[in-house]
Amino acid sequence: MNNIANNIQKIHTRINNACLNSGRNPDDVKLVAVSKIKPAEMVTDAFESGQKIFGESYVQEFRDKQPLVTAPVEWHFIGSLQSNKVKYLRGKVTTIHSVDRLSLAEEIDRQWGKTETTVDVFLQVNIGDESSKAGCSPEALENLVRSVAPLQNLRIKGLMCLPPHCDNPEQVRPFFKQLKQLAEQINRLQIPDVNMDELSMGMSGDFEVAVEEGATFVRVGTAIFGAREKKA
Ligand SMILES: *Cc1c(COP(=O)(O)O)cnc(C)c1O
Repeated sequence: MNNIANNIQKIHTRINNACLNSGRNPDDVKLVAVSKIKPAEMVTDAFESGQKIFGESYVQEFRDKQPLVTAPVEWHFIGSLQSNKVKYLRGKVTTIHSVDRLSLAEEIDRQWGKTETTVDVFLQVNIGDESSKAGCSPEALENLVRSVAPLQNLRIKGLMCLPPHCDNPEQVRPFFKQLKQLAEQINRLQIPDVNMDELSMGMSGDFEVAVEEGATFVRVGTAIFGAREKKA
């Protein structure tokens, strides 16, 4: 078994254990293999070992890589996104995890509207309130949800966060809990077309804690593909 296949299998074992610890069904947790800065061949290798969903963070890199992957993978966009680049994602990704402002949602709606199709989105919340990070503030979330909900060509699946980096994953647990609580608060408002059923949270260093706190999508890069070179 190659390294990538081995790594993916180990991650599934760890996800399963985290589910056991927290009384969850492993079928409810999906693994997004984050392939940014990694070559198309690695995506193909991972696909051949059973991995279906891949996450990319940089539009230009994705545009170059996507045509080189002929396997029928499902692409998710997880990185910060400028409105003028949304057009390059249309028809290529099923899900965008990083919608944090109305103007971006409107452009996504406009682009997917051209083909009368829909795309799944997560609203990204700046849960640690860090000035360096993208994401809507928890206070502004309800307004963002209410204005994005009526857009016809995107479906709000839930919330996403990228919490502050911590050396000990236990320190991140309160942020994951907070994201889940925010999703529950929004659900209680019963806004038409809004079901915050999914939570995109957890990365290589903390995905088990995220699963214990309710993650339905974990975004794991390094633990599958190895350390990344810094992006030039
Ligand atoms: C790079 C990235 C990840 C994966 O991080 P790892 O620590 O390599 O697992 C997850 N989510 C987002 C938004 C990322 O940009």
